[in-house]
Amino acid sequence: MNEPIYVAQPHLPPLAEFLPYLEEIWSTKVLTNGGPFHQQFEHALCEYLGVKHLALCTNGTIGLVTALQALRIKGEVITTPYSFVATAHSLLWNSINPVFVDIDPKSLNLDPSKIEAAITPQTTAILPVHCYGHPCDTDAIQRIADDYNLKVIYDAAHAFGVQDAGGSVLRHGDLSVLSFHATKTFHTFEGGAIICPDARTKQHIDHLKNFGFVNETTVVAPGINGKMSEINAAFGMLQLRHIDATLVQRRRIDATYRSRLSDVAGIRCLHDPGESPGNHSYFPVLVEADYGLSRDGLYQKLKDHGIYARRYFYPLIANFPMYRGMPSAHPNNLPEATMAAQKTLCLPIYPALSDADLERIIALVRAR
Ligand SMILES: *Cc1c(COP(=O)(O)O)cnc(C)c1O
Repeated sequence: MNEPIYVAQPHLPPLAEFLPYLEEIWSTKVLTNGGPFHQQFEHALCEYLGVKHLALCTNGTIGLVTALQALRIKGEVITTPYSFVATAHSLLWNSINPVFVDIDPKSLNLDPSKIEAAITPQTTAILPVHCYGHPCDTDAIQRIADDYNLKVIYDAAHAFGVQDAGGSVLRHGDLSVLSFHATKTFHTFEGGAIICPDARTKQHIDHLKNFGFVNETTVVAPGINGKMSEINAAFGMLQLRHIDATLVQRRRIDATYRSRLSDVAGIRCLHDPGESPGNHSYFPVLVEADYGLSRDGLYQKLKDHGIYARRYFYPLIANFPMYRGMPSAHPNNLPEATMAAQKTLCLPIYPALSDADLERIIALVRAR
């Protein structure tokens, strides 16, 4: 019996490479509260990502919650139902009403042409997701935001290192939020970051993530504990030494899937790499009616062979109990997202995936 293959396997560098970092923490005895690794990692990440300011945090979800607080977002926020549930949960944690808008069937990102119809006097912001690391139509979204005086916060949890023609996609909107969870392409076990347009915003977020303290005795806001620890920041410094090699391996696996699956009737690989290279964090395919097996049929067949593909994103966020009563959550409002949730399957992609295992997955998908 083969070892089980999961959709993702976290990248762990050789333990020996991490020991010097741990020794440094043990010798300085600074464990958290913006210590030396936290500062180094913020600078190194800004440089790697090509952004000017960012604030590390404990995880992406706290990053989203804090980003919404930093911009004092209230009322209604337009967002996508086709994402991980944390996107909408961050709104509920701020007592904001999510308003779901359908996705573009090609990119599976929020469809800008459907946003305006969902704007009401209560709308204050748009919360799109660069789904699977493929950039949203940022120009169209910004035009609408400008016309209606709305803020834009990007859930960029999938978009580590993604570039568009003008540079990092993380420069778009008012804030962008990364996740460094263990399942993401770049991870620090748990972690995240908020990309800020200026030093003042970063400082405000630094206060919010430290209970609202601005100095020893002054608290200016009901902040949270969202600080990244020195262990996670040190691990991030080490991961940065490996990320380029990781991305090369992912690109190779992506290209193999694409070339070996392109002639399979009923299997559609998403995102032409010529249009948007992304970062190969996921390998989603759409299982169409002419494939012979349903999406769930293929999912089960792979599972029976010890291959744990994932139905990202199914169920839709709008179908979870705390959302499904909302008017915008009705399937009639979300036909494309509803369809995508029924058809997509994310195949395993990670640097340690062996050629033999990759061929085994491909053979199973090919042999309906
Ligand atoms: C992973 C993820 C999050 C949450 O990030 P955590 O670091 O796990 O809190 C939010 N949004 C999307 C789209 C994600 O994939």
